[in-house]
This record gives sequence, structure tokens and C-alpha cells, in this order.
Amino acid sequence: MKILLVEDETEIGSLVKDGLEKEGYSVDYCEDGDSGMEHATTKSYDAVVLDVMLPGRSGLEILESLREGQNNVPVIITTARGESDDRIEGLNLGADDYLPKPFFVEELVARLRAVWRRSSDSGMSLLSVGTLSANLMSREVSRSGQKIEMTPKEFALLAFLMRSPGRVLTRTQILEQVWGYHFDPGTNLVDVYIRRLRTKIDLEGEVALIETLRGVGYRMIDPDDPAAGGG
Ligand code: CA
Repeated sequence: MKILLVEDETEIGSLVKDGLEKEGYSVDYCEDGDSGMEHATTKSYDAVVLDVMLPGRSGLEILESLREGQNNVPVIITTARGESDDRIEGLNLGADDYLPKPFFVEELVARLRAVWRRSSDSGMSLLSVGTLSANLMSREVSRSGQKIEMTPKEFALLAFLMRSPGRVLTRTQILEQVWGYHFDPGTNLVDVYIRRLRTKIDLEGEVALIETLRGVGYRMIDPDDPAAGGG
């Protein structure tokens, strides 16, 4: 998930950027309205977090030109104290939500997930295998309707497995895809994470979904498709 952050107060900006990156998001950070505008209109993002008062173009101008260009990327505007008119104008211009400053990064992440949940109602971003489902946008995981908490890395690994049920994924492929390693770090990292995932997703009374192929790797079993390793 790629996020554009436009904020001219460096201290706030780098704090928010770090916080989002810790949550596993990748962040482009612009410190003025003009470069924010250029990024917003030439690159593709999963969300834009916009400060209103900026040197150069304002956050509201950026928002306005995004919407005029039929760009429906989720936008959250952040406003300082006393800028309540900007909030209303922002919402009128098509912002998905606003967050008054100061705010905690956790609060921003919660708002982002909420707007993604709303915009992902098309179902495009929902992965499901048997009774397990994972929403790529809100990153919510559940088994038979029971919510399961995941760390960002656990989620990335689970999503990778769920994208290709029935397919054997080697440790090398997993290390490359989930950790970005193009070498074998010589640890049992993958095995440790697979164990953690199993503990979380294989709730009592449910079918075990991750199969170990000794010396090769792992695969996600599809219980609805015996040919894909289930049955
Ligand atoms: Ca500002």
C-alpha cells in the first residue's frame, strides 16, 4: 500500500512517515504544495494524506484538481486548530475524511483503514480461502467471522500464500516476496512466521490451511478445491 503524505512541518511529517512505515506502508513524503500536486497527479497511490496550509498550492487545491481529474484516490485532510472551515470545504471538495492536528499516527492508520474498507466494498480486494478471509485494503483477517490480529509481516506472508492457493511456494520465493531478500539469510525466519500464522489462523475445529512440503516450501490448501491440495 502506497501513501502520499504532504505536510510542510518537517517534524510532524517525518513522525507520520516513520509511523506509517512501521505499519508496513510505503510513503512518498512531500513538504510543499507544488511537489505534492506533482506527485498526486502523476503517480498512483492507495491514499493521500494532505495538510491544508502549505507553501505553494494548498492541500485543498491539490484535492480539487485530483477530483476534477476524476481521480478517486482516498484523501484524508489534516487541519490545524481553528481551521474548521477548511474541514467543511475539504469534505465538500471530496475528501474522504479529516483529522484535526495534533493526532496520533494510530488514529491516522485507523482512519485510512476505514476509508479503504468503504472503498473496497466492490470485493476486489478480498481474498478468501475456505473460511479464512483477508481484506487487502483494511488488512482485516477473519476465520469463520472471528477477527484475527496480524502484524504487518504476518499479513504480507498470509496474503502471499492466499493469492495462490494450491501452489507450492519455496522459502526463496517467500523471502523475496515478503522480506525483499534476494539471498538466503540462513535463518529459519520463514518457518518461524509460518508457525505463528498457523497458531493464529487454524482456530479450533477448523481445517489446517498451510501445508509443509518438506525440503521444498509451503502451500495454502484450498478446502473447496481437492485438486488444489484440499479435500
Ligand atoms: Ca501546514
